[in-house]
Amino acid sequence: MTKKERAAQAVAILKERYPEAICSLVYDKEKPYELVIATRLSAQCTDARVNIVTKELFARYDSLEAFANADLAEVEEIVKPCGFFRMKAKDTIGMCQAMLSRFDGKVPDTIEELITLPGVGRKTANLIVGDIYHKPSIVTDTHCIRICGRLGLTTGITEPKKVEDALRPILDPVESGDFCHRLVLFGRDVCTARAPKCEECPLKPICKEGPAPKKTKKPSARAKIKPEEA
Ligand code: SF4
Repeated sequence: MTKKERAAQAVAILKERYPEAICSLVYDKEKPYELVIATRLSAQCTDARVNIVTKELFARYDSLEAFANADLAEVEEIVKPCGFFRMKAKDTIGMCQAMLSRFDGKVPDTIEELITLPGVGRKTANLIVGDIYHKPSIVTDTHCIRICGRLGLTTGITEPKKVEDALRPILDPVESGDFCHRLVLFGRDVCTARAPKCEECPLKPICKEGPAPKKTKKPSARAKIKPEEA
């Protein structure tokens, strides 16, 4: 089976298991910049914690302008539970200022433009072009890197950009964004980092790192002797 065929099977199997491929970060669809902020805050933090923090943050600052003019210390205080709060607060204000000054108050729609915003890397940029603009995207977060490696789609590669480059030619661009969302759900449920539940895994038949077939135990010399011969 080629990598492309294996990828197509993984896409189909996870699509069936998780029909809803939604981003777990909560944001207002009318305010797409909120997803850029939430994704920045999610680095080294759980989506659940980010959602608690952004509830307060987005209520306190309800527009791009409000964020651009926000008091740094105040934003730091609110985003503190997400960790790395000084840098995250600075990036939050900086990215909103940049969207206002360089992009006419809009969220850019290309990866190349998005990564010019403070604190925005390829992971965030891919998420935005996929979720906001419905363009092909590949979000190489920890789940994507781990599971695609185990499946043998990106063998031996862990650097996010290289994983993205390896997946792009083998994933259906129409499905790639949703597939990455489903990998997050699957990575939490089944193919966890420390204890993958291979025995109950729907991807087991196509997985390169699934459990090896059980070896039949060689009978010992003693076991070969029929009871009546002993
Ligand atoms: Fe992960 Fe195991 Fe499933 Fe492979 S068989 S995808 S390692 S849970």
